[in-house]
Amino acid sequence: MNKDEVEQTKLRLLQLRRAVLQEVAAAEDASRQLGQDGVPDIGDMSSTTYERDVLYNLSEVQRQKVRDIDAALERLGLGEYGVCARCGDEIAPQRMAVRPFSRFCVDCKTDIEKFGE
Ligand SMILES: [Zn+2]
Repeated sequence: MNKDEVEQTKLRLLQLRRAVLQEVAAAEDASRQLGQDGVPDIGDMSSTTYERDVLYNLSEVQRQKVRDIDAALERLGLGEYGVCARCGDEIAPQRMAVRPFSRFCVDCKTDIEKFGE
């Protein structure tokens, strides 16, 4: 990776990070609003609880994404970006293009999904 590529990747990661944070903020707003609309009658209660769970889980996934992006930025600074954190091989550029904060190559990712990290 040359200096320009590092710079471009950094900008892309920072953009992604901002986009996720905006999604999280929007989900948290929606979640707060659900909690604020007074005392629901019994019929409404279960669906409201369900929606709050969905929103909560959504933002958990997104928080994990932010952590992944932060880790990718750190690896970029260390010159380890695009290298699999498990086997040390280079991660396929097509994979990095689709998911620029990938930590593992496809093979390792498949193993991890099957057998755990
Ligand atoms: Zn690997």
